[in-house]
Amino acid sequence: MILLVTISAMSLTPASAEDNPAQTAPSAIPQNAERTATTDENVKPVNPAAATQAWLDSVPQDQREKSDAYFEGGYWLILWNFLVTAAISILLLASRLSARLRDFSERVTKIKNFQVACYAIPYLLLVYALSFPLNLYENFFREHQYGLATQSFLPWFREQLIGLMLTLVGGTLLVIGLYAVFRRASRTWWIWGTIVMIIFLGTLVLIAPVYIEPLFNTYKPLTDPKIRDPILAMAQANEIPVKQVFEVDASRQTTRVSANVAGLLGTTRVALNDNLLKQCTLPEIRAVMAHEMGHYVLNHGAKLLTYFGILILIGFALTRILFDAAVKRWGDRWGVHGISDPAGLPLLALISSILLFLGTPVLNTVVRITEREADAFGINTSREPDGMAKVALKLGVYRKLNPTPLEEFIFFDHPSGRNRIRMAMDWKAANLPAGEPISSGNQSPTH
Ligand SMILES: [Zn+2]
Repeated sequence: MILLVTISAMSLTPASAEDNPAQTAPSAIPQNAERTATTDENVKPVNPAAATQAWLDSVPQDQREKSDAYFEGGYWLILWNFLVTAAISILLLASRLSARLRDFSERVTKIKNFQVACYAIPYLLLVYALSFPLNLYENFFREHQYGLATQSFLPWFREQLIGLMLTLVGGTLLVIGLYAVFRRASRTWWIWGTIVMIIFLGTLVLIAPVYIEPLFNTYKPLTDPKIRDPILAMAQANEIPVKQVFEVDASRQTTRVSANVAGLLGTTRVALNDNLLKQCTLPEIRAVMAHEMGHYVLNHGAKLLTYFGILILIGFALTRILFDAAVKRWGDRWGVHGISDPAGLPLLALISSILLFLGTPVLNTVVRITEREADAFGINTSREPDGMAKVALKLGVYRKLNPTPLEEFIFFDHPSGRNRIRMAMDWKAANLPAGEPISSGNQSPTH
C-alpha cells in the first residue's frame, strides 16, 4: 500500500501534472453557439455569465450525459479501490499470510534489508494479482466503453507488465528505505519516514522524463513550424528553455487530448501529445501550452512536492498512532510485532488507504489550486479566451462540465469546465490593453 500511496502520489505530482482533455468531434461545438460567444467582441461588451452559459449550452445533451456518467463513475471507483485495498490488507493480516511471508523471509536471509525485500516482492505481486480484476475493468474495459482507449488487450497488458516491473523495483527500494528508518527510530519514524518519502518522490519526478516515460511513449521535439514557432515564442517570452517543448505519441494508448509538464530541475520539459496536434486549432493549442508553461514558470513541481511533504508528515503522524493502537489490539492474532516488523506492511497499507480515502478532497484541492494558477498564467500568456473555452469543452468529454461546488471541492483535481470557461470569459470581458503607447511618436515605455 505504501506502494499504492506512491502510485497515487505519482499521479498527483508534477511528473504528471497533466491535463487530459478528451476527444470531441469538431462538430461538438455548433457554429451558432460559437458565434454567440465570440462574435462582436469589439462592439458589445461581453457578459461573462451569459457567455459562459452559451458555451456550456453548445454541448449536446447526449454527450453531456455520457461524460457526466464517465466522471461520476470515477467517484465510485475511488470507493471501490479503497475497499479492495482494505480487503486485501485485512485478508493478508487476518489469515496470517503476512506473518508467514515474514517468517519465510527470515529463513531465506539474516540480513534485514534482504528480509524486507524478500517480503516486499511477493507482497507487491500478490496485491497486484488480487486487485487485477478491478484494474482490468477500470483501465481497460471502462476506457474502451467510453471510447477513450486505443489499445487492444495485448499491448495494454504488456504496458501493465512494464508498470509492474517498475513498481517492484521502486516499491521494494522505498519499503527497504522506510523499514531501515522504522528499525532505527521506532518512536520518531514518522519524521524520518517523511524525509524518505520526499526523497523518493523527488527522485521519481526527476528521473521520470528520462527513464520512465520513454518506456511507454516516444518523445521528440516539435518540428512543424506553424505550431512550433508560436509555442516557442510563448516559451521564450517566459524564459523557458527552447529544447523543452516536445511532442509525444499518446495516441498509442488513448484518444485524449493532453499536454503535461514533467521532471524537476534539469529534467523538466513541457510536452504536448499528437491527439492535441490533430484535433485542436492553433488558438486552442496555444491556450493549453500556455497553461503547461504556467506549471513550469510557477515552479509547481517543487511546490507540490512541498505541499505533499507536509501532508505526508501529518499522515505519518496519524499512522503512528493508529498503527500502535491496532498492533496493541490485534498484533498477537495477526503475528505482527511492531512498526519494524515487515509483517505489518499490510497494516500500513490499510491505514494509508483509509487516510488517503478520507483525504481525497484535501489532495484534490491542493492540486486544483495549482491548476487554477496555471490557468490564470495560461490565459494571460496565450490571450486566447475562446481557445481556452473550446479546450475546456473538449476536456468536458471525460470531466463533468458543470458540477455542484461541493462536488468540485471533493472530486476535482482540475477546475471544472464551467469555472475554466468563466475565467476565460471574465478575462475577455476585462478587455485588457496590450500595453502599446496610445499616440504615435511617443517614446516607448521603458519599464
Ligand atoms: Zn495543468
